[in-house]
Amino acid sequence: MMRHWLAAGLMVVGLTAASVQAQTIYPLDRAEILAGSRFDFKVEFPGAPSRGVVTVTINGREAAAVLGRSATYVEREDGQDYAAYTVRGGAITAPGRYVAEARDGTRSARVVWEVFGTPARRAKNVILFIGDGMSVAHRTAARILSKGLVEGRYGGELAIDDMPHMALISTSGTDSVVTDSANSMGAYTTGHKSCNNALGVYCARNKHFLDHPKVETLGELAKRKGLAVGVVTNTEIEDATPGGMVAHTRLRWEFNDIVAMFYAVKPEVILGGGSVNFWPKSTAGSKRTDEINYVQKFEADGYRHITTLTELKAAVAGGASRLLGLFNTGNIDGALDRRVLKKGSVDKFPDQPDLVDQTRAALAVLSKAPNGFVLMVESGRIDKYTHSLDWERAAYDTIMLDNAVKLAKEFAGTRGDTLIIVVPDHAHPVSIVGTYDDERPGDTLRSKLGTYAASKFPNYPPADAEGYPPSIDVSRRIAFVYGATPDYCETGRPHLDGENRPTAKGADANTFVANEKNCVPGAARRPGNLPISSAAGVHAADDVILTAMGPGAELFRGRLDNTRVFRVITTALGFGR
Ligand SMILES: [Zn+2]
Repeated sequence: MMRHWLAAGLMVVGLTAASVQAQTIYPLDRAEILAGSRFDFKVEFPGAPSRGVVTVTINGREAAAVLGRSATYVEREDGQDYAAYTVRGGAITAPGRYVAEARDGTRSARVVWEVFGTPARRAKNVILFIGDGMSVAHRTAARILSKGLVEGRYGGELAIDDMPHMALISTSGTDSVVTDSANSMGAYTTGHKSCNNALGVYCARNKHFLDHPKVETLGELAKRKGLAVGVVTNTEIEDATPGGMVAHTRLRWEFNDIVAMFYAVKPEVILGGGSVNFWPKSTAGSKRTDEINYVQKFEADGYRHITTLTELKAAVAGGASRLLGLFNTGNIDGALDRRVLKKGSVDKFPDQPDLVDQTRAALAVLSKAPNGFVLMVESGRIDKYTHSLDWERAAYDTIMLDNAVKLAKEFAGTRGDTLIIVVPDHAHPVSIVGTYDDERPGDTLRSKLGTYAASKFPNYPPADAEGYPPSIDVSRRIAFVYGATPDYCETGRPHLDGENRPTAKGADANTFVANEKNCVPGAARRPGNLPISSAAGVHAADDVILTAMGPGAELFRGRLDNTRVFRVITTALGFGR
């Protein structure tokens, strides 16, 4: 009876606590924090209590003192119904378990962090390759196209597969099962999980997108420790993955701010697309809202500004020590368009570099850095083309990534001082289920699909020296399927006249319907399984495959959270000492 009464009493207390929200503490519970790395500490007190009644401690001491910075206290931050206790840019240097607690006299909250140190530095250089959205089916498709598949055996290994260490990486963020490319990259570059669309910040209740609590990025850390930094992508340089090396923003789409953050951090090598956010507003085509000319600002700081492959090669041959390469107003065209089909913006930008050219240039510049370097290289359109349900373009860009990794492996060679990591930031729900064979009877796409014993090997022509089949439009093709789509028409054929556009705007606002251009005889009309507001395919929560080699790579094994990639990198570099 007594026990019963106690239990009931506890339930009432529990309900009361739940109905009045407790404080929120950033970094969140279970954060792993690199010893000495900088971060903003914040507590949000619901009900906006006055400063006099609150206490905020870390391991029992005043939080600001532990973090080595002063605190601010705002009773109604941004006019909202909570008070904010904030310590900007603090750090904890001694490794260990830390308990942060906040009290306002009636309510309290606590989080536990692990502050991790690192042993002595083992890697001089780190090269982090991101295959954006690269899923198992992309690897398999790239291997089939690049190496050939005869009697069940491949004609060779992909460089991304042929590495001694491997792990499964889980990619979920703090707010949702399925991540986007911002908070997933942030996990790799800060070691902290965050929410969708956020780069280098925790998602607090701040109203302004630049005010959220920041955590130090790999780009900033490396520069602070005296290493050189390179950021290389074939997307817009301001996009989430490259931006994750330097940026702190709740909104990944605010490209103009991200350009300013690149300028603040000053990676020695910056190579990608997205030039229009560097040009002053008055320049034709500029997407800036101010008259700042970031091309000129970088040039004034010793950067060689280049816009073509020819200029890139000349700059490297001329011994340039800082590169700002902006090769397209938007994304750099993918390998299938540049090499085979000549679509996309290839007419307008005929001399764009390949990711391999960019990686070669970056290594030439960065390898001169006496204290080593951190280089991030992203093959970013694997993701974008998969959103467009255009797997052939995604597979060619997977081959391009593979070539860039091969080059990096040659660079690392027998040096023994370079950690190479290849990892997607998230998956797509894609799979290979057989082959479409024009020789099979029937008029429908389903009748052309061979599964199991009928999935005869595809007949793509042998790849060229760089691993690309010279033609993609063959009679027996990989049947690559998408698990989550809008309404669309599947042709089962490559999109020869440009990147696929699976949908068109529907009659109602924010709705999408199948793009009728693809609804040709022989195509399959597929009812979508995504909300009708979806214009394209979406990411998946599936784990992704990481492969690695070099000093520190042995720490990758089993299943790891994405934040552990940061931990392994900073451990290899000895950044926690
Ligand atoms: Zn994506």
